[in-house]
Amino acid sequence: MIKSFLSPLNKPNILLLTTSLFGLSACAQINDNETPLEQPKNIIMVVADGMGPVFPTAYRYYHDDANTPLVERTIFDQFYVGSASTYPATESGYISTSIASGAALATGKKKPNMFVTDSAASATALAAGVKTYNGAIGVDQDKNPQLTVLEWAKSIGKKTGIAVTSQIVHATPASYIAKNVSRKNYNPIADDYFDLRVNGKLKVDVMLGGGTKYFIREDRNLKNEFVTAGYQYIDSYEQLNTLSPTQPVLGLFAKDALPAELDSKQKNRLTTLTKTAIKQLENENGYFLLLEASQIDWGAHSNDIAYSMGEMKDLAATVTYLKSYVSNNPDTLVVLTADHNTGGFTIGARGEYKWQPEYLKNLKSSPKAMAKRLADKRLSVDNLSNELGFALKSEELKKIEMILLEHTLDNHTGDLSKGKIKNKLVTRYYGYIKEIINLRTNSGWTTTGHTGIDVPVYAFGKGKEMFAGFQDNIEIANKLFTLMGKK
Ligand SMILES: [Zn+2]
Repeated sequence: MIKSFLSPLNKPNILLLTTSLFGLSACAQINDNETPLEQPKNIIMVVADGMGPVFPTAYRYYHDDANTPLVERTIFDQFYVGSASTYPATESGYISTSIASGAALATGKKKPNMFVTDSAASATALAAGVKTYNGAIGVDQDKNPQLTVLEWAKSIGKKTGIAVTSQIVHATPASYIAKNVSRKNYNPIADDYFDLRVNGKLKVDVMLGGGTKYFIREDRNLKNEFVTAGYQYIDSYEQLNTLSPTQPVLGLFAKDALPAELDSKQKNRLTTLTKTAIKQLENENGYFLLLEASQIDWGAHSNDIAYSMGEMKDLAATVTYLKSYVSNNPDTLVVLTADHNTGGFTIGARGEYKWQPEYLKNLKSSPKAMAKRLADKRLSVDNLSNELGFALKSEELKKIEMILLEHTLDNHTGDLSKGKIKNKLVTRYYGYIKEIINLRTNSGWTTTGHTGIDVPVYAFGKGKEMFAGFQDNIEIANKLFTLMGKK
């Protein structure tokens, strides 16, 4: 079954292709004008998934010190250099369900461009400098594997790493490492992390994030294969300090994605993983590191601004750390951008001229976690105000009681399994808690999907000038290739 998903790709051919691509090693490191380029030794690419321009703006107001008349600038504002368009290729795998593309196909016309990308097409653009269809992992429109900046870095003798808050086989990191026709093929994508090599070597020296279930499986134990190949394996944050700096590492800290920042026992987990990744990667030839704040997008898909702001806070701490790192290591370049915007979030809604982020500042857990604990009766309705960090009105408390009552009545005659009934209750509670937060903050949303707006680009360190102004997302990869001497 899974094999048939993979059929358009012939693994041995990919190996041959990548090996032959890497055969053209980086000998001349000169740009078109024949002036030697100032090449950074280390490159840190940061992808903030779903972070359209509205999220750094919202973070600025959320972060503002109310005791001063002007709004303080954030760490993001310091490094803003430009913007990028994100549209995918016209042949987009997801649009076959849309009426427009169906009609175009029926008449034999070229599919129209739908302009709205998913994370896989966008990450492939950022990683390999090619436009592709939504869902594609490291392959172009014709499903041919594409060379990525991470692979190129490895081929010229740099160390490579990823540190992300999703499962490490999720679309963004996968697009830098794996080759697959669909982002959904998580297990084959995990296999690629071990099986696809660069000049015979394993591709990624440091892998930190979530996803044990893809690496320790019944059909294959990739964790053991990595260990046999000389990798250190860790699965708790405490072990981060025990790593030998000379050995490669696979660190998986959750079965699937890491918990949301608001629910994480390890605070600022992306920042923590970043510090370790850099420590492990530093060497005289330099390194390429991909970081992803994976879950800004997930909060936005759920129209849950508290979730997304928690993720923004961790990202801001990560960038703050990177600023100090670059000031001590000026031969490092940091580029930060988003793959697309998510949720159509608006600062202000319903005709009212206000946004009140103070309601987001004292949450003790994520709204989803609150909903789960309410459904499990581990959190009482009376304690919900305490958990949210602001007092609920009596009518809001009544509505929460009503949700349980309605739910009980609805399910009286239902034939759903207990698990499904509970999930329905969690969904209802979660929906209402989000509604309260969206109303209190006066936040708006236009979609539970992605939008096609341009995304901001931030850069600092050596070579940052190249990212100034407007660019398309494929140009970001091409600039990184140039900075690493690829013609
Ligand atoms: Zn998304």
